[in-house]
Amino acid sequence: MGGLVLFETEEQRSFRDTCARFAAREIAPLVDEAESTGVYPRILRKKAAEIGLLGLGVPEVFGGTESGLWERCIMIEECAKVCAGLCTGLLGLGQNLLPQLGTPAQIERYLKPLVDGDKASAFAMTEPNAGSDVLAMNGRAERTSTGWRIRANKLYITGAPCSDFMIVVVYTDRDARRNGVSIFLVDSDTPGVDIQKMDKLGHRSMETGNVFLDCEVPSDALLGEAGRGMDYVMSVLEEGRITHAARSLGVARAGYESALSYSGMRETFGVPIMQHQAIQMKLAQMLIELRSAHLHVYNAASRKDAEMPVLLDASMAKVVASEAAVSITDQAMRIFAGVGYINDAPVQRYFRDARLYPITEGTTEIQLRTIARTAVLQQEN
Ligand SMILES: Cc1cc2nc3c(=O)[nH]c(=O)nc-3n(C[C@H](O)[C@H](O)[C@H](O)COP(=O)(O)OP(=O)(O)OC[C@H]3O[C@@H](n4cnc5c(N)ncnc54)[C@H](O)[C@@H]3O)c2cc1C
Repeated sequence: MGGLVLFETEEQRSFRDTCARFAAREIAPLVDEAESTGVYPRILRKKAAEIGLLGLGVPEVFGGTESGLWERCIMIEECAKVCAGLCTGLLGLGQNLLPQLGTPAQIERYLKPLVDGDKASAFAMTEPNAGSDVLAMNGRAERTSTGWRIRANKLYITGAPCSDFMIVVVYTDRDARRNGVSIFLVDSDTPGVDIQKMDKLGHRSMETGNVFLDCEVPSDALLGEAGRGMDYVMSVLEEGRITHAARSLGVARAGYESALSYSGMRETFGVPIMQHQAIQMKLAQMLIELRSAHLHVYNAASRKDAEMPVLLDASMAKVVASEAAVSITDQAMRIFAGVGYINDAPVQRYFRDARLYPITEGTTEIQLRTIARTAVLQQEN
């Protein structure tokens, strides 16, 4: 796949090698156990922190390395290619809100331990009746004499069962709708926080939770200003879509490369199946989708790094890469045929993991709505 990294600098290529080696050495040996037990190995975050992977994009003053989004995408792509679930635990969920909003005390207590791999976070916004339609949520926080009382049910929260704290999005003024949303830092062991682990189709090595909050938090649990929560969420939304697309790209590559390799080994009718034109056509189509996803992801990342407008590119990258992951892993399953359907086949994991990507970080339909609103309806390019 050398052609895919054509536009990378020498430094970026070398960083890609570092990430690929990390994934092979530290992630690969953990996959089988974590996928079968559904328990995220926290040691992996510590190992990633040792070589600076958890602080990418975090200002140096907070313990990070001020690399661009391109480098972050490289790290995510290479790690997701080996295991999407374990890669997800390296993302620092909600972490990018902290440098811009955190008080010095919040940075010390939450951001620095995230970068060091000592703590893990979760980002809790979705509720049973509020997924795509965030403002339909019921969760709320009310002032008390000592701080805030939070009551909410947050659903499908990635990493919640293995988190030290959660970044929780609720109303502080429901009547004000978009201008009444606030964000709180809630320690996961706070009395009144109940996290129930959920079973799911893919990403089995990453724990997902149904979170019930009926708890008191102190005044300084508020992140940023009350009522500006939606502005803050929107400010990190583009980056989130691009890194999400990088994760899809990693899984798509895993699907393509495993199918390519298998089709050179498996023989039918006296020849490797790669010699059958039907299989060649599948692989050619998969490669086009893969290349397209790669170009969209790194185009969006480079625009973001150049501080150019990127709303449209981020949504496009998210759609192209997530749908490519679904389509490529589906084709890979067909190429593996019977052996791919058996539980311990890695291709089956890629297929199950890919199914998540058109859902999270804004569904494909919601991205298409954004693309239509920003480009089609305004007739922009
Ligand atoms: C494994 C997993 C992990 C997750 N992790 C997190 C997390 O860490 N934090 C968090 O806050 N959330 C998380 N989520 C929630 C995820 O972001 C939501 O599932 C997603 O936003 C979709 O919401 P929904 O499932 O309620 O679907 P709905 O919003 O009910 O949508 C149902 C269908 O209708 C379509 N639809 C809805 N509105 C429109 C519209 N206006 N136009 C066209 N089509 C529309 C959708 O695209 C979809 O096809 C996770 C979900 C899963 C499954």
